[in-house]
Formats: sequence, C-alpha cells, structure tokens
Amino acid sequence: MKRLIKIYLFALLPISVFVSCNTMDSEADTKEGNYSDKQVNVILLIGDGMGLSQVSSVYYFGDQPPSFSRFNEISLINVSPVKLKITDSASGATAFACGEKTYNGAIGVDADTNEIPNIFEILSVKGYKTGIISTSSVTHATPACFYAHVEKRSMQCEIAEQIVDSDVDFFAGGGEGWFRNRKDGRDLYPELIHNGFTMDEPLENLTLSPEKKYGFLLAKKAMPTMLEDRGAFLSNYTNLALDYFTQSKSNFFLMIEGSQIDWAGHDNNSEYLIEEMKDFDETINVALDYAEQYGNTLVIVTADHETGGFTLSTNDGDYGDIKPSFSNGGHSATLIPVFATGNGAENFKGVYENTDIFHKIIDVVSN
Ligand code: MG
Ligand code: ZN
Repeated sequence: MKRLIKIYLFALLPISVFVSCNTMDSEADTKEGNYSDKQVNVILLIGDGMGLSQVSSVYYFGDQPPSFSRFNEISLINVSPVKLKITDSASGATAFACGEKTYNGAIGVDADTNEIPNIFEILSVKGYKTGIISTSSVTHATPACFYAHVEKRSMQCEIAEQIVDSDVDFFAGGGEGWFRNRKDGRDLYPELIHNGFTMDEPLENLTLSPEKKYGFLLAKKAMPTMLEDRGAFLSNYTNLALDYFTQSKSNFFLMIEGSQIDWAGHDNNSEYLIEEMKDFDETINVALDYAEQYGNTLVIVTADHETGGFTLSTNDGDYGDIKPSFSNGGHSATLIPVFATGNGAENFKGVYENTDIFHKIIDVVSN
C-alpha cells in the first residue's frame, strides 16, 4: 500500500505549472513468482553534464543524506566520441542506448549515419515495457537516442514523429511544441492516441491501466528550472512510471534524465546546478527505494559527460568554505562516475568505455 499512498499524496498537490494538459501487493506479487523472477528490470538515471564535482555538490549543499552513498559498485567511464576527444549529449546517449561510439549530434545512428538498434527496441521484443522521463523536451538529444534514429539532434520534428511508432510505453517531460501547433501544421496527438497513448491526463483524474500507454508533455519546450519552481516533477513522474510498470506486471527499462544539470553548467550558474543536482538526487532515492522494495532491479546512475569544468574549490584559501566554480562554458573530457546497485551491479567495475554500459545491461537482462 505504500506506493498507492505516495501517488495520492502527489496527486493532491497543485499542478498549475503544467501548461497542458489499484496498486499490487508487492509481497504477494513476489511470492507468486511472476514476471519479476525471470528478467531484471533496469532503471538508468542520466545526469546530463554530471561529473564528480557535480555529484560531490550534494554532499556539501544537499538537505539530506546523498543517494550516491547507497550504491555498492562505483566505476568510471571514458565518454569520448569517434574522432574527437569531447562528446556532446547525442553521441553520449547513443553510446548508452545503442552501444556504439558515433559522432557528435548523432541520434541512434553510427558514424556512417546508419541506424543502430537501441536498447528499447531490443528489450521490447523480450516483453519489456519502456519509459523515458526528462526535464528537457522528450525530443532532446538524451531521451531521443532511446527511441529515434536521425542524423542530427536538431531534427526534433522528425524525432517527435518517431516516438509515435516507437517502443516507448511511457514518456514525461517537456516538448509539446514538437508534437502539436507545429509550423508544418501536423498534430501528432491523434496519432499517439490512435497508437494507444493517453495524453496529458491530469494526475488527479488518472487511474493507471496496464493496457494503455501514457504520454505527458508538460511544457512547450523544456520543463521549468528548479529555480523557477519545477517542483517534484522528476521524482513524482518516476513514481508514476514505476507504478504503471508494477501494475502492468511487465519487466521494464526506465530512463530518467536530469537534463538541466548540463544547462546550469553551460550557464556557469552554481545555484542552478546545485538545485538541479538536489532534484536528481531525490529522484535517485525513488529508484533505489523501488529496487529495495521490489527487488529484481538494476539501478545505474551515470552521465553522458561533464559540463563547465565544475569544481568545488576553496573560497580564497579558506579550507572551511567552498566556492563552486567553473573553468568554461562547454563540456569537458573528464572520466565520468558510474554508480550501480541491484541485480547485475557486480558487472559494473573498473574503468571502461561509455558504450560498455549498453553491453553490460544487455548481459544482465540476457542472464
Ligand atoms: Mg540531455
Ligand atoms: Zn551540454
């Protein structure tokens, strides 16, 4: 009953910031030996632009014990794309979603622009349900790599069109403007609804049904920043997605992106960055709580790259005070931490390539 109560609590919260718009008994569920005994569920949390100093910031500026301390396997990845040293989010997410290094800007295509099967396509054949939740537009580079195949990340109209027939069962984030009231006049909402999606249902009216798919496009483009009162969107919709998957009795792969950690880095705005990190940290706790309660789940937290050359330096030589600061406004080449726990977490050891995240997940779900 714990999860049902959570849903009701947040359903009662005001959701005016949004522009558009019977829980299983877990113990009995597990004892009956259902789906969850066969294959491993995967929750992949990507903090866009989240290097080690960004992770460290919640240890000094957070309001609660950091979620990162709950992981038992920590490793490092090299995130360089083909030819260059520093990746963008498109190449970085293609590495995670498709298991191949590619060029910056590529969405689900290889260095020769050939489409590469992504992990949603691979797992949906095995009966997995899939979901994406993002604080950017759902058509932005990171989420797009999990369902779309286009040559350039800027092709967001095409990316939106590809979600209609994709293997995505649940999506939440911004990006309504790429789906309707478009310059070309095309409205993707009727197409989504025809394909089984319930769109933008207000949470207070929502009764989840395993037979349906759900889309929530809650802003024209990006979601608001935490400084602009985005509130608990990321953790609330993570809870909602997990409830949907649990009720569906399907195995699942859920990708959750803290998109704006990157944007705060580009802006060299440490206050913005820390608030986005705290929101992401809270969402990681939701994923970890789920994995602890239900078991049979692999939780991975990592990033596509670091942004801003962020560091927690001393404030004028005072070792009792930290001055969060940046070295530039772009991405950096630093190795990126990977946190893993749950089923198959022991595979995530050492220093390896970003593409190995994909292969390690495939290994875990194939066992
Ligand atoms: Mg991103
Ligand atoms: Zn960036």
